[in-house]
This record gives sequence, structure tokens and C-alpha cells, in this order.
Amino acid sequence: MSLLEVKGLGKSFGGVRAVDGIDFHLAAGELLALIGPNGAGKSTTFNMVNGQLRCDSGSIRLHGQELVGLKPRQIWRMGVSRTFQIAETFASLTVVENVQMALLSADNKLFSMWRPAAAYRRDDAVRLLAQVGMESQADRPCSVLAYGDVKRVELAIAMANEPKLLLMDEPTAGMAPRERNELMGLTKRLVIDRGMAVLFTEHSMDVVFAYADRMIVLARGRLIAQGKPAEIRDHPKVQEVYFGSGKTFEKPGAAVKEAA
Ligand code: ADP
Ligand code: MG
Repeated sequence: MSLLEVKGLGKSFGGVRAVDGIDFHLAAGELLALIGPNGAGKSTTFNMVNGQLRCDSGSIRLHGQELVGLKPRQIWRMGVSRTFQIAETFASLTVVENVQMALLSADNKLFSMWRPAAAYRRDDAVRLLAQVGMESQADRPCSVLAYGDVKRVELAIAMANEPKLLLMDEPTAGMAPRERNELMGLTKRLVIDRGMAVLFTEHSMDVVFAYADRMIVLARGRLIAQGKPAEIRDHPKVQEVYFGSGKTFEKPGAAVKEAA
């Protein structure tokens, strides 16, 4: 059985069919890229899976259990995590304190803040940071970190509930190519080491072709293709919708071609 099974998923905003009845699945240990032009429905799909948005139709099953109708927090408790940008208010906290806050939340103790976060599961927080290569910077404030390092901390925070499925919406946006590769390499390692599944959206075709095990392609809310990167690259429908006829995907390692 797949870890995640999505069937007939749909969502409209006013007259716009943002997501128009899509089916896809995701197995444990799989890195699945969700690609498509701007406005294709990628973020809407994400937000339905994590429970932020209620779908109009369809079902989303995790290990056979229906997620539709559950609150984001319940879905998160079942092992579906997502990366968040570190909020401005948390940037003054140190790296390890940010992860400790995530552990407090995972343990449902965010609202008993009389317990000083400074002491809370510090060793576990440092262990999470070690997974993303950030333990040496544990006591620095997040506000002084390089951008790529902030993204690593955000990944450590998303790992606090030991997710079975991690959702990343444009994780490498705003990053230099080297930082992108580092972050996705790290993500790939977590997928392999922990058997975690990842669903991510990405604009850089270099990144998608280098790291995705499989990809699904959306255009105007419809799923127009799915398969291994090599199959997708040669898919005429994808090339047509994505770049207009006549253009093709660059080979991995070639100049980055943006989807926007
Ligand atoms: P993507 O992430 O692929 O760029 P989105 O899922 O954000 O696409 O958007 C899909 C479509 O739904 C777009 O036409 C967008 O304008 C519309 N849309 C998304 N969110 C909302 C919203 N909250 N209210 C109204 N329209 C929305
Ligand atoms: Mg989006």
C-alpha cells in the first residue's frame, strides 16, 4: 500500500478550478516532485494535503486513513510535516532554541511556557541539528545565519515530529545553485536513511532532475503527466504546456531553466 493515496482531489476558488480532480500516490522512501507553471495548483494541492485548505472533492489517505476533514494539527500528529519559514519573532532565538520550540510543540507543551525552553530536550534538539549539519552553530541566533543555513534549521524543525511524509513548497526558492544542491542532497539523505517520503515543488529543473525519484506535472489544475524524470523530459504534452511548443527541457547539469 502506498503511504499517501490521493484520489479525485479538487478545489475551486470562485470560478477558478485551482485543482481539478487529480490522482497521485507516494511511497515511503520516495522523493516526489510536483511541478508545473505558476498558478498550476501546486500550493493548493499542498495545502489540502496538510489540512490548511479543505478540498471540495476527493480523498487523501495516509496509510489508508482519510485525512480530509482533519485539522492541520491532527494531520501533523499523524506524521505529515511541512517546512515553515522561521518567523521573524523567532529569529532572535538561537538555532537550538528554535528546534527546542518545535519539540515543545511536538510534545504538546507549547502552552505551558512556564517551563523554560532553554532546558527542554536540548540533547534531542542538538541531535536533530546534527542531522542537517548545523550542530556547530546551535548557539548562534538564527538572525545571523547564512540563508542556506536558515533553510537547514527549518528542515531540522520540520523533523521534530519524526514525519513519515514531509511537504516542501519551493524549498530552494531564493537560493544559489550550490545551496540548492546542498539542501536537496540533505533531504535526499533523510529520505534514504529514515525511509521518509517527501513531496516537494521546485522551479529549478536541474534540482528536479537531479533529486526526484518521480515527478507529477500539473497544468491549470490538471495532472498532465507523471513518471520518472527521464520519462517526463521526453513527454510531448509536458514540453508543450511547460515551455510552449518547440522548447525542450535542458539536460541535468545544463543551465537552470525556470518554470515561471
Ligand atoms: P501554484 O502554487 O502552482 O503556483 P496555486 O495553487 O497557488 O498555484 O494557485 C492555483 C490557482 O488558484 C491560481 O489561479 C490562483 O490564482 C488560485 N488561487 C490560489 N489560492 C487562492 C485563494 N486563496 N483565493 C483565490 N484564488 C486562489
Ligand atoms: Mg505555489
